[in-house]
Amino acid sequence: MRADPAEYKLVSPGNLQGALSLLAREPAQWLPIAGGTDVMVLYSAGKLPNRNLIDIWNIPELRQIDVFPDRICIGGACTFTALRRDKIVSREFPLLATAASWTGGIANQNRGTLGGNIANASPAADSLPALLVYDAELTLISVRGERRVPYRTFHTGYKQTVRAADELILSIWLPRRLSGYFSHARKVGARNAQAISKVCLAALGQISHGAIRDVRLALGSVAPVPLRLHEAERMLAGKKIEPSLIDAARKSVLKEIRPIDDIRSTARYRSAVAGNLVADFLAKLAAEGATA
Ligand SMILES: Cc1cc2nc3c(=O)[nH]c(=O)nc-3n(C[C@H](O)[C@H](O)[C@H](O)COP(=O)(O)OP(=O)(O)OC[C@H]3O[C@@H](n4cnc5c(N)ncnc54)[C@H](O)[C@@H]3O)c2cc1C
Repeated sequence: MRADPAEYKLVSPGNLQGALSLLAREPAQWLPIAGGTDVMVLYSAGKLPNRNLIDIWNIPELRQIDVFPDRICIGGACTFTALRRDKIVSREFPLLATAASWTGGIANQNRGTLGGNIANASPAADSLPALLVYDAELTLISVRGERRVPYRTFHTGYKQTVRAADELILSIWLPRRLSGYFSHARKVGARNAQAISKVCLAALGQISHGAIRDVRLALGSVAPVPLRLHEAERMLAGKKIEPSLIDAARKSVLKEIRPIDDIRSTARYRSAVAGNLVADFLAKLAAEGATA
């Protein structure tokens, strides 16, 4: 540990209003901490700039998953374990349940939360491509009230978001209308467990009369923010999946992504893998369409 605990203050209000009031009084001074799986890494490395932490782990409104006829509402501090165990999430949002199962080891999944993954805003975060293809919406809350933000507009640059310092991610809304789609998720890392993604994919598709009726593709670790591949989706819509279309999709993916070299991988490797993951998904979607 390179940090001295005596220099830090941790307050645990235990209720939403208490946490929001503290954030409102001195927004830049207080940092929310949910599972702590990102915050404590910074802390133990001596790189956590904030000295005052608000514990939001035990706030009931942030821990529940509510089901409505047309959507579900996931509390910002729901853990990856809770997501994996939830029957509706597993059945209707398998991309999210799968991403939850990728996120570190079991101990990490017991503490790490979906809101923390979103707010931490790493482009390599595993659950974020799934939120893009499912058209997630976020509810942000502060003493000033609540506001709904389409998740696709939440990240504004590398580790930059539209969340104000006094706001919490209260909930994540997922519409249930995409639950009948064929879904496919892949994570490519250095190994199967406890590895941050070199590239990860979340994809949904539907075939109708032998052609792609709708397709939704998102990648992590290939740009400063999690990336939805709108151009590739537009190019693919309405077409029959053939080898020439898969080649065209690879080229389109390469035009949209902006991978970099870093400690985990190279831009060249990420580009090749991104194209392969999309090609693999399209081949599986075609096979699914042939048997449907
Ligand atoms: C060993 C290990 C392995 C990991 N493996 C993976 C992996 O495979 N894939 C992956 O994606 N991530 C991985 N992570 C990163 C981490 O577990 C996730 O990002 C997790 O979702 C963070 O959630 P948390 O609740 O622990 O966040 P915290 O550490 O509590 O907080 C992270 C950030 O989010 C903010 N925050 C948290 N909750 C809210 C909220 N509701 N509203 C507003 N701001 C909030 C905090 O202020 C902080 O800035 C790993 C971490 C470790 C330590």
